Amino acid sequence: MRVLITGGAGFIGSHLAETYLERGDEVYVIDDLSTGALSNIEPLRRHPRYGHRLFVHIDTILNHDTMLELTGTCDVVFHLAAAVGVQYILKNPLKSIRINVAGTEKVLELCAKFKKRVLITSSSEVYGKHLHAPLVETDNIIYGPSSKFRWSYAASKLMDEFTALAYFRTNGLEAIITRLFNTVGPRQTGAYGMVIPRLVCQALNHEPLTVYGDGMQTRTFTFVKDVVDGLSALMACDDAAGEVFNIGGTEEITILDLAERIIQATESRSSIQLIPYEKAYAKDFEDMQRRVPSIRKIQDRIGFQPVTDLDTILRQVIDFQRTLMNRQPDKETT
Ligand code: UDP
Repeated sequence: MRVLITGGAGFIGSHLAETYLERGDEVYVIDDLSTGALSNIEPLRRHPRYGHRLFVHIDTILNHDTMLELTGTCDVVFHLAAAVGVQYILKNPLKSIRINVAGTEKVLELCAKFKKRVLITSSSEVYGKHLHAPLVETDNIIYGPSSKFRWSYAASKLMDEFTALAYFRTNGLEAIITRLFNTVGPRQTGAYGMVIPRLVCQALNHEPLTVYGDGMQTRTFTFVKDVVDGLSALMACDDAAGEVFNIGGTEEITILDLAERIIQATESRSSIQLIPYEKAYAKDFEDMQRRVPSIRKIQDRIGFQPVTDLDTILRQVIDFQRTLMNRQPDKETT
């Protein structure tokens, strides 16, 4: 099979590429390296057994000709290319909306033209300010005010969902929609806000851990390999098109507890520093206080079950960040 992965040099995309290469498939990656990195896929490219089956295009998904050729060539498409990370979105508001809305429309248009099955990655952000748990695919969507620009990301991802559903209805496009909850693991950078790589780096450097707000906000974290298993199983499922699926873990933890677990796991001398939101982010930021998925639907459909617990996830991230630091002793990794 030929698999196209947009955003394939990114954190999740590169793990997905690895999975399909290991299975014997050909993988085509398109990535503009805005948040992805060649270092994520270089080891795959050099791999003696499957490196020759990986084809990398450094380009934007907005480039019609490149996307036309790649979509025509491949059998299935995973669309992961997007502006990601709260810090990135707030710094690049227009670019983020453009890539997340026009970019996704381009991918869907071409998949419809060539009749290729496509899986798009939306986000748990679309659940907005809900405080209840668990969040179910059929819940109403409630964002905050438009003065809080964080919600532009959620709005753009929701637009992607509706565009995919519209193609499904009007063209019969086999589009599968996933809402990814916080995904973590090796290769994730803390540069754009992601809490676990950030706090792990701080702990390894024995610097104070920056916990925003009062630290009582919660998240659930899922290991990237578990998420990738869910994505590939959905792609292989003949009964998933035109539907939305949460993908995430169910072990809820406050960010304060997370920081303590990280200090323990790294045997760090760091302390925890509570930083008010207005000092941590631009003032047009608003946090989500709670975010726990219901994974009933995807469990019922494909038997999805995350198997990696938080301690194991933390160990993997710590090992990865340690290796990175040893390789680049003078460089800040977050
Ligand atoms: N966070 C934090 N310190 C950091 C980075 C993030 O306390 O250095 C918090 C952030 O405010 C949020 C949670 O950790 O409540 C998860 O943030 P992240 O950006 O990883 O993901 P998202 O907000 O998209 O869930």
